[in-house]
Amino acid sequence: MMHETPKPFDDLALQPLAGEWRKGSGGQVLTVTNPYSNETLVEIPQASRADLDAAFAAAQQAQQAWAAQTPTVRAQVLLSAVRIFDQRRDEIIDWLIRESGSTRLKATIEWGAARAITLEAASMPSRVHGRILESGVAGKESRVYRKPLGVVGVISPWNFPLHLTQRSIAPALALGNAVVVKPASDTPVTGGLLLARIFEEAGLPAGLFSVVVGPGSEIGDAFVAHPVPALVSFTGSTEVGRNIGRIASGGRHLKHVALELGGNSPFVVLADADLEQAVNAAVFGKFLHNGQICMAINRIIVEKPLYGAFCERFAARVRELNVGDPNLIETAVGPVINARQLQGLKAKIETAQSEGARLLVGGEAQGNVLPPHVFVDVKPEMDIAFNEIFGPLVGIQCAEDEAHALTLANRSDYGLSSAVFTASPERGARFAQRIRAGMTHINDIPVNDDANAPFGGEKNSGIGRFNGDWAIDEFTTDHWITLQHEPRHYPF
Ligand code: NAD
Repeated sequence: MMHETPKPFDDLALQPLAGEWRKGSGGQVLTVTNPYSNETLVEIPQASRADLDAAFAAAQQAQQAWAAQTPTVRAQVLLSAVRIFDQRRDEIIDWLIRESGSTRLKATIEWGAARAITLEAASMPSRVHGRILESGVAGKESRVYRKPLGVVGVISPWNFPLHLTQRSIAPALALGNAVVVKPASDTPVTGGLLLARIFEEAGLPAGLFSVVVGPGSEIGDAFVAHPVPALVSFTGSTEVGRNIGRIASGGRHLKHVALELGGNSPFVVLADADLEQAVNAAVFGKFLHNGQICMAINRIIVEKPLYGAFCERFAARVRELNVGDPNLIETAVGPVINARQLQGLKAKIETAQSEGARLLVGGEAQGNVLPPHVFVDVKPEMDIAFNEIFGPLVGIQCAEDEAHALTLANRSDYGLSSAVFTASPERGARFAQRIRAGMTHINDIPVNDDANAPFGGEKNSGIGRFNGDWAIDEFTTDHWITLQHEPRHYPF
């Protein structure tokens, strides 16, 4: 079938609120800028509390008819969205580069991940299964229906805005829910508005998908405490996530939460590892998107016999990375998201030096572009090792032996992803099983996301899992219904 070339996404100052595209009525205007060039991309009038209420009310109203549609109808909308992802590929990638400072490579990877979860979600409507149970009561039929939750509130971060919003809303919509999204203030276009345009074009009925643009610090609490959403699906920092968990479980209206939070991924190199392969993986797993990925390598831990050679080879490879304009195909490290984030990273560099870490690779920031920094002689208690970095810095620690490497790997309050390099995959699997994390990859980087595999963390990295069957569980709920076919004799 031939399709016309689509018109560019336009009117991005408007938000889909309660079934119509209009300006937010909050009175303040959000200026969205390109973190590399500082150019203003769009000015968006922000949403008010009244807009938020209207969005949730419309979602609640539209949801029931949507849930009653056949699985085929819902799947068809998701499949149309996949087709639009393909048609609008270049435009989506271009927006990711301009709005979130993504390098061309990272933007392409993100587009692919968002497309993949959309395709996976298209299969979900027909994968929902109820159950028939045996009953302990004579003449009773016992059924478990699997039903949508109702309205899902989604709050997403700026680092992978398109994918991290889409991995909640695509399954949620496919499974018969309505969604209201609050994107991060740095990325309202790629974190919500483009997706709403895509779903509208794909034929999603009005009212099922609203976007409220506004600062989390101002409308966040009202969003989470709102009586309508049955689930708040949050991806972001542990600090904000903890607060959301508190409000969602401690307020007047109890609700489910899915919390995908910060990380501190260890990358462990055992002495029998292939040095070259481990170095190549470490460079990519650390510096993709300048380290602004929850699963990015945050600590490199190398067993003693390889430590010196690894540090030298790693530093040499890092010095070769192209740094600068994210739009150029050869750029590996582009701008960090904003000046505030840059200041925080500069403070981390100073702290690392004052704590005694030795700088092997460094350089001065140009605008928001911070060149990669590599520290060696790093101890586990140093800030650069113990806390999430979320930037193009890394410290390398030396482990005495395998047991020590494991102790170091587990020395974190986070438990999202992790990786181990070894010549023996089975040795790697044994090591992996002793890491307390949601995800471990042997002879690969910790940054991995398959649309059908469970994504999520342990410890302070969150609660819940995304993707595949796990998303089906997360975005639906059980309803036990019994039918008493014979009159039941009650004791009194
Ligand atoms: P953040 O927590 O500052 O913001 C995330 C979202 O929460 C934004 O939309 C923000 O506006 C909103 N928000 C802020 N305050 C709020 C409040 N009081 N109530 C409700 N919402 C509020 O995080 P960020 O800086 O955008 O993203 C970086 C963090 O996200 C890192 O810690 C990173 O590890 C984490 N992250 C985790 C995953 C994961 O899957 N586990 C993925 C990406 C990023």
